[in-house]
Amino acid sequence: MARYTGPVCRMCRVEQKKLMLKGNRCKSDKCPMNKKRAAPGKDPKSRPGKRSDYGVQLREKQKLKRIYGMMEKQFRLFFDRAQRMPGIAGENLFALLERRLDNVVYRLRFASSRSQARQLVLHGHVKVNGQKITIPSYLVKPENEISIAEGSKNLTVIKDALREFGKSGVMPWLSLDPDSMKGKFLTSPRRSDITDLGDIKEQMIIELYSK
Ligand code: SF4
Repeated sequence: MARYTGPVCRMCRVEQKKLMLKGNRCKSDKCPMNKKRAAPGKDPKSRPGKRSDYGVQLREKQKLKRIYGMMEKQFRLFFDRAQRMPGIAGENLFALLERRLDNVVYRLRFASSRSQARQLVLHGHVKVNGQKITIPSYLVKPENEISIAEGSKNLTVIKDALREFGKSGVMPWLSLDPDSMKGKFLTSPRRSDITDLGDIKEQMIIELYSK
């Protein structure tokens, strides 16, 4: 599956929002967004112009897509699936995104960013219900157990992430035993449970794709 390989911080500058794509660096003084630089290609002295409805909708979609590290084609497939599911499409979309294995590995604090979690999954360091899964977009189900493979438990990258982020606990729809490096996906979260994505307006994304 294709993925974005350009400069990661540029995406935050384009969106003028901290998308938290680089783990520790995002919380440090090294984050370029702390320097309040203008978006790439924009004159820092120019006033921000008024965006069209389409422009606003597009930016909301791009933000969410970039946060979860997805390319357009796969994001669209997730959206189409969310629309076919019973209930509200926006709610369904967030529930599906949160069920991605790379996201769950990140949320369980086994990695400091979703892209690092994706690498852990691709390289076979992660198991679901005791079975190795190497597909980052694999959808975890409620009550699934996610663990680090026995031979990978000494990886510095995982231990560092757990040490750094494990202190602050995990989201309420997950449980974690840091000592055994095992966690559980308890249930799919509701949109209102996902409090760390800021003010993403999913309605705008629905309007964009409904054109
Ligand atoms: Fe975005 Fe993190 Fe880079 Fe800051 S350090 S610009 S939050 S990816």
